[in-house]
Amino acid sequence: MSEAPITDWSRGLPLKAGDWFIGLYQPSPETKGYWDGVAQRELRLKHCRACNRDFHPKRIVCTDCGSDALEWKRASGRGTVYSFSDVHRAPSPAFAGSTPYVVGLVHLEEGVHLFTRFEGGKVAIGAPVRVDFRVLELGNLMPIFRVEAA
Ligand SMILES: [Zn+2]
Repeated sequence: MSEAPITDWSRGLPLKAGDWFIGLYQPSPETKGYWDGVAQRELRLKHCRACNRDFHPKRIVCTDCGSDALEWKRASGRGTVYSFSDVHRAPSPAFAGSTPYVVGLVHLEEGVHLFTRFEGGKVAIGAPVRVDFRVLELGNLMPIFRVEAA
């Protein structure tokens, strides 16, 4: 595809599957801060002021203490590989030129798990990784994690 990368998130996230345009995803009030951070190449977590715990988006109350005193905070961007899988079969034509690639869960220093793309080196359980941002196959800027040199 030759479309320009989309960096303006103010109108939502266009959802495409290959050549099919599905619609426009509108960030909810609970996730807007996360996507605003991505647009600025900043990984954000929700933080509970009451019990000092961090969360991935889509939380409106703390799952630990029930407080609604949540705020956005910038994540360290550092973590380790928690699990991963090699993708050899493209889920849609847009991914055909990218296989094989690696997806999985990163365990952030803050104790939060995120599903992500791994790049930049040999992926192994426990390998140290750091967040980076890249326009992926569907044309959206997304957080990915790069394996750091040992
Ligand atoms: Zn809490």
